[in-house]
Amino acid sequence: MIKEKIENLKSGRLTPTENIRQFLDKIKKENKKINAFLELNEAALQQAKAIEGKKDKGKLYGLAIGVKANICVQGLTASCASRTLKAYRSPYDADVIKRIKEEDGIIIGVLNCDEFACGVSGQTSAFGPTLNPVAPDHVPGGSSSGSAAAVAAGLCDLALGSDTGGSIRNPASHCKVVGIKPTYGRVSRYGLIDLAMSLDQIGPMAKEVYGAALLLEVISAHSQNDPITVKEKIPSYTKVKPIQKPRIGVVQELEGLVSDKRIVNLIREKAMEFADNMQGKVIELNLSHTKLGVQTYYPLLFVEFFSGTRKFDGRKYAEKIEDTCGEEVLRRIIGGREISKAEYKGAYYRKALRTKNLIKEDFEKAFKNVDVIFVPVTPALPTKITEKLAVEDAYAFDALTVPANLAGVCAGVVNAGEIDGVPVGVQVIAPSFKEDVLVSVMKSLEK
Ligand code: GLN
Repeated sequence: MIKEKIENLKSGRLTPTENIRQFLDKIKKENKKINAFLELNEAALQQAKAIEGKKDKGKLYGLAIGVKANICVQGLTASCASRTLKAYRSPYDADVIKRIKEEDGIIIGVLNCDEFACGVSGQTSAFGPTLNPVAPDHVPGGSSSGSAAAVAAGLCDLALGSDTGGSIRNPASHCKVVGIKPTYGRVSRYGLIDLAMSLDQIGPMAKEVYGAALLLEVISAHSQNDPITVKEKIPSYTKVKPIQKPRIGVVQELEGLVSDKRIVNLIREKAMEFADNMQGKVIELNLSHTKLGVQTYYPLLFVEFFSGTRKFDGRKYAEKIEDTCGEEVLRRIIGGREISKAEYKGAYYRKALRTKNLIKEDFEKAFKNVDVIFVPVTPALPTKITEKLAVEDAYAFDALTVPANLAGVCAGVVNAGEIDGVPVGVQVIAPSFKEDVLVSVMKSLEK
């Protein structure tokens, strides 16, 4: 549908102003219910008007793009859904935003999320929880809750989320949309407010793979502002061909972490069906370190988050974080301060770094024999909005998504079906910088 919409926009059957106005009207009517948007871009209509009649129309000409609240858009509030930064107006555009604007995309507003992108529910925002538009009794997932919900509810064409340990993939699964976590180093992090700088990536969310592929293509680039970004040429992700005879890996160690076995069955069925359709085969893999994802991820995250938040000391960026943040954010700051103390030198952070390497090696070995790996996204269905997960259970919800961040590879989610009327996604993991393979498989799965 996005493909047709772009054709309509480019041919003039639909003007950017009309497209943006329709969304603004819809958001004004429907956002109250789901609380996906925290702020609208007051200049969106004017910006849409300004690109009208342009000769060289960009790839995102006139599309409405929503942006997670931890990504800087000049003049809008990058609050990270926290009281700490509630008055922080971005003085500049993140690299991804610059690229979207260069391709004539219109930023329509700022999207809700778990506070500082810490969470799996979409419930920890200081500005109220986001609701799941497709399964209203269940949480939308997080931390990119607003991005997934806004796309699912049709409040914008495309959205940006960020994924440090699953924050794009988890809500994509729960809200029945598509999400991609790019390879670490594919997309510039300049202008993204850090959760854990060695793991964070910005990525696209959309209703269909085509839209996610298109936005990915636009935001993928080397940038001098982010030395981690690679220089190689980006293939056109919207034009990838189906891969022939795919070898699909499945991972028992990870499936063993899933408490709801119906989810494992659904993912296995998807793998078999895909293999049958494409004359490929399913291969059992041994990735023995991947089950240590949660134990590896959290020590790294605590230390890096603690370090990243030292700038929020109340002098330059509004409020002091310890005085204004919520419970989960404070837990991570205190935890990070504790385990980075000199007397624990080597005990936690270094050990976690070593395990991170082992997980990376597991994937490198696996990808010698398979093209992609299929795993569930979460160990259970999204919780009911009335339930609150204990801390350990919330962390355990990340068990299937953090391995891809720790290994630095790319991964994406498309819907695989429903269980008890709740959408469930399949997570496809592909080798580093093989986003073309990832997108191709996701496209075939979508059909
Ligand atoms: N749920 C994980 C966490 O709370 C992942 C967050 C993310 O990817 N931003 O840290």
